Amino acid sequence: MQLPNGVKIIINQLERHGHRADVVGGCVRDCLLGKTPCDYDITTDATPDQMIEIFRDFRTIPTGIKHGTLTVMAEGEPYEITTYRRDGDYCDHRHPDTVAFTQRIADDLSRRDFTVNAMAYNEKDGITDLFGGRDDLRAHLIRAVGDPERRFDEDALRILRAVRFSSTLGFAVEEKTAAAAHKLAHLLSFVSGERIYTEIKKLMAGSGAYRVLHNHRAVIESALGITGYTLPDQMRFASSLPDVRFFSIFAGYDDPVREFTAVCDRLKVDNAMRDAGTAVLANLSRVFEGKADVKLCLRDIGVDHTLMLSATRALLGYSGTCIHCHVMSIIDSGEPYTARQLAIGGRELLALGYRGAAVGEMLEFLTLSVINGEVDNDFESLIEVAKSYTPNN
Ligand code: ATP
Ligand code: MG
Repeated sequence: MQLPNGVKIIINQLERHGHRADVVGGCVRDCLLGKTPCDYDITTDATPDQMIEIFRDFRTIPTGIKHGTLTVMAEGEPYEITTYRRDGDYCDHRHPDTVAFTQRIADDLSRRDFTVNAMAYNEKDGITDLFGGRDDLRAHLIRAVGDPERRFDEDALRILRAVRFSSTLGFAVEEKTAAAAHKLAHLLSFVSGERIYTEIKKLMAGSGAYRVLHNHRAVIESALGITGYTLPDQMRFASSLPDVRFFSIFAGYDDPVREFTAVCDRLKVDNAMRDAGTAVLANLSRVFEGKADVKLCLRDIGVDHTLMLSATRALLGYSGTCIHCHVMSIIDSGEPYTARQLAIGGRELLALGYRGAAVGEMLEFLTLSVINGEVDNDFESLIEVAKSYTPNN
Protein backbone atom coordinates (compact mmCIF):
# COMPACT_ATOMS: atom_id res chain seq x y z
CA MET A 1 0.00 0.00 0.00
CA GLN A 2 1.51 3.32 -1.05
CA LEU A 3 1.15 6.05 1.59
CA PRO A 4 1.58 9.78 0.89
CA ASN A 5 4.86 11.25 2.16
CA GLY A 6 3.08 13.38 4.74
CA VAL A 7 1.56 10.25 6.29
CA LYS A 8 4.92 8.46 6.33
CA ILE A 9 6.54 11.44 8.05
CA ILE A 10 3.86 11.43 10.76
CA ILE A 11 3.99 7.67 11.34
CA ASN A 12 7.81 7.78 11.49
CA GLN A 13 7.74 10.62 13.96
CA LEU A 14 5.44 8.63 16.28
CA GLU A 15 7.50 5.45 15.87
CA ARG A 16 10.74 7.31 16.64
CA HIS A 17 9.18 8.20 19.98
CA GLY A 18 8.32 4.59 20.71
CA HIS A 19 4.68 4.64 19.62
CA ARG A 20 2.68 2.73 17.09
CA ALA A 21 0.71 4.51 14.39
CA ASP A 22 -1.43 3.25 11.51
CA VAL A 23 -3.66 4.66 8.84
CA VAL A 24 -7.15 3.44 9.55
CA GLY A 25 -10.73 3.22 8.30
CA GLY A 26 -11.89 4.47 4.91
CA CYS A 27 -8.42 5.03 3.48
CA VAL A 28 -7.36 1.41 4.07
CA ARG A 29 -10.61 0.19 2.55
CA ASP A 30 -10.23 2.45 -0.49
CA CYS A 31 -6.57 1.52 -1.04
CA LEU A 32 -7.42 -2.19 -0.95
CA LEU A 33 -10.15 -1.50 -3.51
CA GLY A 34 -7.60 0.20 -5.73
CA LYS A 35 -9.17 3.63 -5.25
CA THR A 36 -7.37 6.78 -4.22
CA PRO A 37 -8.56 7.73 -0.73
CA CYS A 38 -9.87 11.29 -0.22
CA ASP A 39 -8.16 11.52 3.14
CA TYR A 40 -5.97 9.49 5.48
CA ASP A 41 -6.89 9.14 9.14
CA ILE A 42 -4.13 8.08 11.49
CA THR A 43 -4.61 6.21 14.74
CA THR A 44 -2.01 5.83 17.48
CA ASP A 45 -1.36 4.65 21.03
CA ALA A 46 0.19 8.02 21.89
CA THR A 47 -2.04 10.04 24.21
CA PRO A 48 -3.13 13.55 23.22
CA ASP A 49 -0.51 15.09 25.54
CA GLN A 50 2.21 12.89 24.09
CA MET A 51 1.13 13.81 20.55
CA ILE A 52 1.38 17.52 21.33
CA GLU A 53 4.88 16.97 22.62
CA ILE A 54 5.96 14.75 19.71
CA PHE A 55 4.64 17.21 17.10
CA ARG A 56 6.01 20.29 18.86
CA ASP A 57 8.01 21.26 15.78
CA PHE A 58 5.13 20.72 13.35
CA ARG A 59 2.28 23.05 12.59
CA THR A 60 -0.67 21.59 14.50
CA ILE A 61 -4.33 22.41 14.97
CA PRO A 62 -5.59 21.18 18.34
CA THR A 63 -9.33 21.56 17.67
CA GLY A 64 -10.32 17.98 18.48
CA ILE A 65 -7.78 17.37 21.22
CA LYS A 66 -10.40 16.72 23.93
CA HIS A 67 -11.64 13.78 21.86
CA GLY A 68 -8.09 12.65 21.23
CA THR A 69 -7.63 14.18 17.78
CA LEU A 70 -4.72 16.40 16.78
CA THR A 71 -4.46 17.77 13.26
CA VAL A 72 -0.86 17.88 12.05
CA MET A 73 0.40 19.58 8.89
CA ALA A 74 2.88 17.50 6.92
CA GLU A 75 4.03 18.26 3.37
CA GLY A 76 1.46 21.04 3.29
CA GLU A 77 -1.48 18.70 4.00
CA PRO A 78 -3.52 18.39 7.20
CA TYR A 79 -3.76 14.92 8.78
CA GLU A 80 -5.92 13.93 11.73
CA ILE A 81 -4.21 11.75 14.30
CA THR A 82 -6.43 10.20 16.95
CA THR A 83 -5.50 8.29 20.09
CA TYR A 84 -6.98 4.76 20.22
CA ARG A 85 -10.41 5.09 21.75
CA ARG A 86 -12.94 2.88 23.38
CA ASP A 87 -16.49 4.15 23.46
CA GLY A 88 -18.44 4.01 26.72
CA ASP A 89 -22.17 3.32 26.92
CA TYR A 90 -24.57 5.01 24.55
CA CYS A 91 -27.87 6.20 25.84
CA ASP A 92 -29.19 8.54 23.15
CA HIS A 93 -28.76 6.04 20.28
CA ARG A 94 -26.21 8.34 18.77
CA HIS A 95 -23.30 9.49 20.97
CA PRO A 96 -21.25 7.56 23.49
CA ASP A 97 -21.65 9.03 26.98
CA THR A 98 -17.92 8.77 27.51
CA VAL A 99 -14.84 7.98 25.45
CA ALA A 100 -11.77 6.45 27.01
CA PHE A 101 -8.31 6.43 25.50
CA THR A 102 -6.68 3.02 25.33
CA GLN A 103 -3.35 1.45 24.46
CA ARG A 104 -4.83 -1.39 22.41
CA ILE A 105 -5.44 -1.03 18.72
CA ALA A 106 -7.98 -3.86 19.00
CA ASP A 107 -10.22 -1.63 21.15
CA ASP A 108 -10.06 1.13 18.58
CA LEU A 109 -10.85 -1.16 15.68
CA SER A 110 -13.73 -2.86 17.45
CA ARG A 111 -15.60 0.42 18.00
CA ARG A 112 -15.66 1.01 14.23
CA ASP A 113 -18.84 0.41 12.29
CA PHE A 114 -18.20 -2.14 9.53
CA THR A 115 -15.54 -4.78 8.96
CA VAL A 116 -14.41 -3.06 5.75
CA ASN A 117 -13.95 0.18 7.74
CA ALA A 118 -12.17 -1.46 10.65
CA MET A 119 -8.75 -2.18 9.21
CA ALA A 120 -5.46 -0.45 9.98
CA TYR A 121 -2.18 -0.38 8.11
CA ASN A 122 1.41 0.66 8.58
CA GLU A 123 4.56 -0.40 6.76
CA LYS A 124 5.99 -2.25 9.75
CA ASP A 125 2.94 -4.28 10.83
CA GLY A 126 1.20 -4.53 7.47
CA ILE A 127 -2.58 -4.76 7.51
CA THR A 128 -4.31 -5.30 10.84
CA ASP A 129 -7.62 -6.91 10.06
CA LEU A 130 -9.26 -8.41 13.14
CA PHE A 131 -12.80 -8.82 11.81
CA GLY A 132 -12.41 -10.24 8.33
CA GLY A 133 -12.55 -6.92 6.52
CA ARG A 134 -10.49 -8.21 3.59
CA ASP A 135 -12.78 -11.22 3.15
CA ASP A 136 -15.80 -8.93 3.14
CA LEU A 137 -14.13 -6.62 0.62
CA ARG A 138 -13.63 -9.62 -1.64
CA ALA A 139 -17.20 -10.82 -1.05
CA HIS A 140 -18.56 -7.28 -1.53
CA LEU A 141 -20.31 -7.23 1.83
CA ILE A 142 -21.09 -4.56 4.41
CA ARG A 143 -21.03 -6.38 7.75
CA ALA A 144 -21.24 -4.79 11.19
CA VAL A 145 -18.31 -5.26 13.54
CA GLY A 146 -19.71 -7.40 16.36
CA ASP A 147 -23.42 -7.85 17.01
CA PRO A 148 -25.29 -5.71 14.46
CA GLU A 149 -28.32 -5.08 16.68
CA ARG A 150 -26.13 -3.87 19.50
CA ARG A 151 -24.06 -1.68 17.21
CA PHE A 152 -27.13 -0.11 15.56
CA ASP A 153 -28.81 0.37 18.91
CA GLU A 154 -25.71 2.20 20.18
CA ASP A 155 -25.55 4.56 17.23
CA ALA A 156 -28.50 4.60 14.86
CA LEU A 157 -26.60 6.58 12.23
CA ARG A 158 -24.76 3.32 11.46
CA ILE A 159 -28.04 1.93 10.08
CA LEU A 160 -28.04 4.55 7.37
CA ARG A 161 -24.27 4.34 6.88
CA ALA A 162 -24.65 0.62 6.15
CA VAL A 163 -26.94 1.27 3.20
CA ARG A 164 -24.97 4.35 2.15
CA PHE A 165 -21.78 2.28 1.81
CA SER A 166 -23.83 -0.42 0.12
CA SER A 167 -24.78 2.15 -2.52
CA THR A 168 -21.40 3.87 -2.95
CA LEU A 169 -19.28 0.70 -2.89
CA GLY A 170 -21.81 -1.39 -4.79
CA PHE A 171 -21.75 -3.99 -1.98
CA ALA A 172 -24.66 -5.95 -0.51
CA VAL A 173 -25.49 -5.59 3.17
CA GLU A 174 -24.73 -8.91 4.89
CA GLU A 175 -27.89 -10.77 5.92
CA LYS A 176 -27.79 -10.34 9.73
CA THR A 177 -26.60 -6.77 9.39
CA ALA A 178 -29.47 -6.03 7.00
CA ALA A 179 -32.03 -7.74 9.24
CA ALA A 180 -30.85 -5.67 12.22
CA ALA A 181 -30.91 -2.48 10.13
CA HIS A 182 -34.50 -3.12 9.09
CA LYS A 183 -35.58 -4.10 12.58
CA LEU A 184 -34.07 -1.02 14.21
CA ALA A 185 -34.68 1.46 11.39
CA HIS A 186 -37.11 3.39 13.62
CA LEU A 187 -34.13 4.47 15.75
CA LEU A 188 -33.12 6.82 12.95
CA SER A 189 -35.55 9.28 14.55
CA PHE A 190 -32.75 9.89 17.09
CA VAL A 191 -30.38 11.10 14.38
CA SER A 192 -30.29 14.77 13.39
CA GLY A 193 -31.77 15.78 10.05
CA GLU A 194 -28.45 17.24 8.89
CA ARG A 195 -26.58 13.97 9.46
CA ILE A 196 -29.29 12.03 7.67
CA TYR A 197 -29.23 14.36 4.71
CA THR A 198 -25.43 14.10 4.41
CA GLU A 199 -25.75 10.32 4.17
CA ILE A 200 -28.73 10.47 1.81
CA LYS A 201 -26.79 12.70 -0.60
CA LYS A 202 -23.86 10.26 -0.66
CA LEU A 203 -26.27 7.33 -1.03
CA MET A 204 -28.02 8.96 -4.00
CA ALA A 205 -24.65 9.51 -5.68
CA GLY A 206 -23.73 5.84 -5.38
CA SER A 207 -23.94 3.37 -8.23
CA GLY A 208 -26.17 1.16 -6.07
CA ALA A 209 -28.74 3.85 -5.23
CA TYR A 210 -31.64 2.11 -6.95
CA ARG A 211 -30.84 -1.26 -5.38
CA VAL A 212 -30.63 0.30 -1.91
CA LEU A 213 -33.85 2.28 -2.32
CA HIS A 214 -35.47 -0.93 -3.48
CA ASN A 215 -34.02 -3.43 -0.99
CA HIS A 216 -33.76 -1.32 2.15
CA ARG A 217 -37.04 0.54 2.05
CA ALA A 218 -37.53 0.41 5.83
CA VAL A 219 -34.27 2.28 6.35
CA ILE A 220 -34.92 4.91 3.70
CA GLU A 221 -38.51 5.50 4.80
CA SER A 222 -37.46 5.93 8.39
CA ALA A 223 -34.55 8.19 7.46
CA LEU A 224 -36.72 10.45 5.32
CA GLY A 225 -39.85 10.15 7.46
CA ILE A 226 -42.04 9.08 4.52
CA THR A 227 -43.84 5.91 3.57
CA GLY A 228 -44.75 4.24 0.32
CA TYR A 229 -42.43 5.90 -2.18
CA THR A 230 -42.32 4.51 -5.68
CA LEU A 231 -39.22 4.05 -7.79
CA PRO A 232 -39.04 4.71 -11.48
CA ASP A 233 -38.14 1.52 -13.30
CA GLN A 234 -35.61 3.37 -15.43
CA MET A 235 -33.58 4.16 -12.35
CA ARG A 236 -32.19 0.65 -12.58
CA PHE A 237 -30.27 1.54 -15.71
CA ALA A 238 -30.12 5.28 -15.91
CA SER A 239 -26.89 6.98 -15.15
CA SER A 240 -29.05 9.67 -13.61
CA LEU A 241 -27.87 12.58 -11.52
CA PRO A 242 -28.04 12.13 -7.73
CA ASP A 243 -30.38 15.11 -7.28
CA VAL A 244 -32.67 13.82 -9.98
CA ARG A 245 -32.81 10.42 -8.28
CA PHE A 246 -33.74 12.14 -5.05
CA PHE A 247 -36.55 14.18 -6.65
CA SER A 248 -37.93 11.21 -8.54
CA ILE A 249 -38.82 9.25 -5.40
CA PHE A 250 -41.46 11.88 -4.64
CA ALA A 251 -43.07 11.75 -8.08
CA GLY A 252 -45.53 9.01 -7.19
CA TYR A 253 -47.25 10.92 -4.37
CA ASP A 254 -50.54 12.77 -4.83
CA ASP A 255 -48.81 15.98 -3.87
CA PRO A 256 -45.09 15.53 -4.62
CA VAL A 257 -44.16 19.11 -3.67
CA ARG A 258 -45.78 18.85 -0.25
CA GLU A 259 -44.10 15.52 0.45
CA PHE A 260 -40.72 16.81 -0.75
CA THR A 261 -40.81 20.07 1.20
CA ALA A 262 -41.84 18.24 4.37
CA VAL A 263 -38.70 16.09 3.98
CA CYS A 264 -36.63 19.24 3.29
CA ASP A 265 -37.92 20.74 6.55
CA ARG A 266 -37.07 17.62 8.54
CA LEU A 267 -33.61 17.16 7.03
CA LYS A 268 -32.79 20.90 6.91
CA VAL A 269 -32.09 20.64 3.20
CA ASP A 270 -30.33 23.70 1.76
CA ASN A 271 -32.39 26.26 -0.13
CA ALA A 272 -30.78 25.61 -3.51
CA MET A 273 -31.79 21.94 -3.41
CA ARG A 274 -35.20 22.76 -2.00
CA ASP A 275 -35.89 25.32 -4.74
CA ALA A 276 -34.69 22.95 -7.45
CA GLY A 277 -36.81 20.05 -6.19
CA THR A 278 -39.85 22.24 -5.79
CA ALA A 279 -39.50 23.65 -9.31
CA VAL A 280 -39.03 20.19 -10.78
CA LEU A 281 -41.83 18.45 -8.89
CA ALA A 282 -44.32 21.29 -9.40
CA ASN A 283 -43.77 21.12 -13.15
CA LEU A 284 -43.54 17.37 -13.67
CA SER A 285 -46.74 17.07 -15.63
CA ARG A 286 -46.42 20.34 -17.47
CA VAL A 287 -47.36 20.05 -21.14
CA PHE A 288 -44.46 20.26 -23.60
CA GLU A 289 -45.62 20.13 -27.17
CA GLY A 290 -42.90 22.17 -28.80
CA LYS A 291 -40.30 24.86 -28.46
CA ALA A 292 -42.74 27.54 -27.25
CA ASP A 293 -43.66 25.39 -24.25
CA VAL A 294 -39.98 24.98 -23.43
CA LYS A 295 -39.51 28.77 -23.58
CA LEU A 296 -42.45 29.25 -21.22
CA CYS A 297 -40.87 26.80 -18.82
CA LEU A 298 -37.51 28.62 -19.08
CA ARG A 299 -39.30 31.86 -18.34
CA ASP A 300 -40.99 30.32 -15.28
CA ILE A 301 -38.20 28.31 -13.65
CA GLY A 302 -34.96 29.22 -15.44
CA VAL A 303 -32.42 27.16 -17.36
CA ASP A 304 -30.94 25.00 -14.58
CA HIS A 305 -34.27 23.88 -13.18
CA THR A 306 -35.68 23.25 -16.65
CA LEU A 307 -32.73 20.95 -17.41
CA MET A 308 -33.27 19.15 -14.10
CA LEU A 309 -36.95 18.83 -14.92
CA SER A 310 -36.02 17.35 -18.28
CA ALA A 311 -33.68 14.81 -16.64
CA THR A 312 -36.27 13.89 -14.01
CA ARG A 313 -38.97 13.39 -16.60
CA ALA A 314 -36.61 11.22 -18.62
CA LEU A 315 -35.90 9.10 -15.54
CA LEU A 316 -39.62 8.78 -14.88
CA GLY A 317 -40.17 7.60 -18.42
CA TYR A 318 -42.07 10.60 -19.80
CA SER A 319 -41.92 10.70 -23.55
CA GLY A 320 -42.46 13.57 -25.95
CA THR A 321 -40.61 16.74 -26.80
CA CYS A 322 -36.88 16.61 -26.13
CA ILE A 323 -36.81 19.44 -23.62
CA HIS A 324 -33.06 19.71 -23.24
CA CYS A 325 -32.52 19.69 -27.02
CA HIS A 326 -34.81 22.71 -27.28
CA VAL A 327 -33.09 24.40 -24.34
CA MET A 328 -29.73 24.08 -26.09
CA SER A 329 -31.04 25.49 -29.32
CA ILE A 330 -32.88 28.35 -27.57
CA ILE A 331 -29.79 29.35 -25.61
CA ASP A 332 -27.44 29.00 -28.58
CA SER A 333 -29.62 31.04 -30.92
CA GLY A 334 -30.40 33.64 -28.25
CA GLU A 335 -34.15 33.34 -28.84
CA PRO A 336 -35.86 35.37 -26.12
CA TYR A 337 -37.97 33.83 -23.38
CA THR A 338 -37.91 36.57 -20.75
CA ALA A 339 -38.91 40.24 -20.75
CA ARG A 340 -35.28 41.19 -20.20
CA GLN A 341 -34.40 39.81 -23.61
CA LEU A 342 -37.00 41.86 -25.49
CA ALA A 343 -35.85 44.51 -27.93
CA ILE A 344 -37.81 47.10 -25.93
CA GLY A 345 -38.03 47.70 -22.19
CA GLY A 346 -39.89 49.62 -19.52
CA ARG A 347 -38.43 52.95 -20.63
CA GLU A 348 -40.04 52.77 -24.07
CA LEU A 349 -43.38 51.78 -22.52
CA LEU A 350 -43.21 54.73 -20.12
CA ALA A 351 -42.65 56.99 -23.10
CA LEU A 352 -45.80 55.59 -24.62
CA GLY A 353 -47.78 56.46 -21.48
CA TYR A 354 -47.71 53.14 -19.62
CA ARG A 355 -47.61 53.57 -15.85
CA GLY A 356 -47.30 51.32 -12.78
CA ALA A 357 -48.43 47.73 -13.08
CA ALA A 358 -49.40 48.26 -16.71
CA VAL A 359 -45.68 48.37 -17.66
CA GLY A 360 -44.97 44.89 -16.28
CA GLU A 361 -48.19 43.49 -17.69
CA MET A 362 -47.40 44.80 -21.17
CA LEU A 363 -43.84 43.40 -21.02
CA GLU A 364 -45.25 40.04 -20.02
CA PHE A 365 -47.77 40.19 -22.83
CA LEU A 366 -45.04 41.05 -25.35
CA THR A 367 -42.81 38.23 -24.05
CA LEU A 368 -45.65 35.77 -24.52
CA SER A 369 -46.37 37.11 -27.99
CA VAL A 370 -42.71 36.70 -28.96
CA ILE A 371 -42.51 33.20 -27.46
CA ASN A 372 -45.64 32.20 -29.35
CA GLY A 373 -44.24 33.63 -32.57
CA GLU A 374 -47.03 36.18 -32.94
CA VAL A 375 -44.63 39.08 -33.14
CA ASP A 376 -40.92 39.38 -33.99
CA ASN A 377 -38.51 40.51 -31.33
CA ASP A 378 -37.54 43.74 -33.07
CA PHE A 379 -37.98 47.27 -31.84
CA GLU A 380 -40.49 48.42 -34.49
CA SER A 381 -42.78 45.41 -34.24
CA LEU A 382 -42.89 45.50 -30.46
CA ILE A 383 -43.51 49.27 -30.35
CA GLU A 384 -46.29 48.77 -32.82
CA VAL A 385 -48.03 46.23 -30.56
CA ALA A 386 -47.43 48.32 -27.46
CA LYS A 387 -48.85 51.41 -29.17
CA SER A 388 -52.00 49.60 -30.20
CA TYR A 389 -52.70 48.91 -26.53
CA THR A 390 -51.52 52.27 -25.15
CA PRO A 391 -53.66 53.02 -22.08
CA ASN A 392 -54.65 56.50 -23.35
CA ASN A 393 -55.40 55.24 -26.83
P1 ATP B 1 -15.87 8.18 3.35
O1 ATP B 1 -15.12 7.74 2.16
O2 ATP B 1 -17.30 8.37 3.11
O3 ATP B 1 -15.25 9.33 4.11
P2 ATP B 1 -15.04 6.72 5.65
O4 ATP B 1 -14.97 5.25 5.91
O5 ATP B 1 -13.76 7.47 5.66
O6 ATP B 1 -15.81 6.89 4.30
P3 ATP B 1 -15.91 8.50 7.70
O7 ATP B 1 -17.28 8.94 8.04
O8 ATP B 1 -14.94 9.51 7.20
O9 ATP B 1 -16.05 7.30 6.70
O10 ATP B 1 -15.32 7.81 9.02
C1 ATP B 1 -13.98 7.36 9.13
C2 ATP B 1 -13.94 6.03 9.88
O11 ATP B 1 -14.45 6.22 11.21
C3 ATP B 1 -14.81 4.94 9.29
O12 ATP B 1 -14.11 4.24 8.29
C4 ATP B 1 -15.11 4.07 10.49
O13 ATP B 1 -14.02 3.25 10.80
C5 ATP B 1 -15.24 5.10 11.60
N1 ATP B 1 -16.62 5.57 11.81
C6 ATP B 1 -17.20 6.68 11.29
N2 ATP B 1 -18.45 6.84 11.72
C7 ATP B 1 -18.69 5.83 12.58
C8 ATP B 1 -19.80 5.45 13.39
N3 ATP B 1 -20.93 6.15 13.36
N4 ATP B 1 -19.68 4.35 14.15
C9 ATP B 1 -18.53 3.63 14.17
N5 ATP B 1 -17.44 3.93 13.44
C10 ATP B 1 -17.53 5.02 12.65
MG1 MG C 1 -13.57 9.65 5.51
